[in-house]
Amino acid sequence: MTLEMRPVCERCNTLLALDGKAFICSYECTFCEQCFAELEGICPNCRGELVRRPTRVTS
Ligand SMILES: [Zn+2]
Ligand SMILES: [Zn+2]
Repeated sequence: MTLEMRPVCERCNTLLALDGKAFICSYECTFCEQCFAELEGICPNCRGELVRRPTRVTS
């Protein structure tokens, strides 16, 4: 098993494209755009603020 970023929403298990929209809190809880809207930008696990996850550009 290799450690890697799992691009799956913790709330609804929606697959999140690495270059798509995703939202994380400071503890790296990860959510999709729809859950971000439903949660009103607050992480339900740690009550931290959710922010847009930067997209990674591989070159
Ligand atoms: Zn979700
Ligand atoms: Zn969190």
